[in-house]
Amino acid sequence: MQAKESSHQKPSFLKSIFQMKCPRCRRGKLFQNYSAYNFKHTFSMHEACSVCAQKFNMEPGFWYGTGYVSYALTVAFSVATFVAWWVLLGISIYDNSLFWWLGINAALLLLIQPWLMRLSRTIYLYFFVRYEKNYLETQPQEFDY
Ligand SMILES: [Zn+2]
Repeated sequence: MQAKESSHQKPSFLKSIFQMKCPRCRRGKLFQNYSAYNFKHTFSMHEACSVCAQKFNMEPGFWYGTGYVSYALTVAFSVATFVAWWVLLGISIYDNSLFWWLGINAALLLLIQPWLMRLSRTIYLYFFVRYEKNYLETQPQEFDY
């Protein structure tokens, strides 16, 4: 009884995204390998959720839209590092600080790229698949325009 009750608790939205869990039940894993830096398997996803059977690749070419998400994340990340740099180190047009920020920001972006691409796929999928409280009793969601 206790286990059943806790299985109906709704896991937090942000936590589920950052843990890259299935958007429908927020319990099954999206990716087969824990690390995004195992480059052979960066994009190895489960065909469907092991918990609720939700399909992840909802139609051929579904992941193309991920580009917009990763672009938005890249911009957001760059704004964040810019503001942090500005506050912590200062940015001036009279020295090289702007170029240092540009270079280091680019290096950081490159470094987090595999993780960022995974995160983009996760967020993209969350646009289309809603959380379902009774994920065990209902049918997985189909792609819906
Ligand atoms: Zn699921």
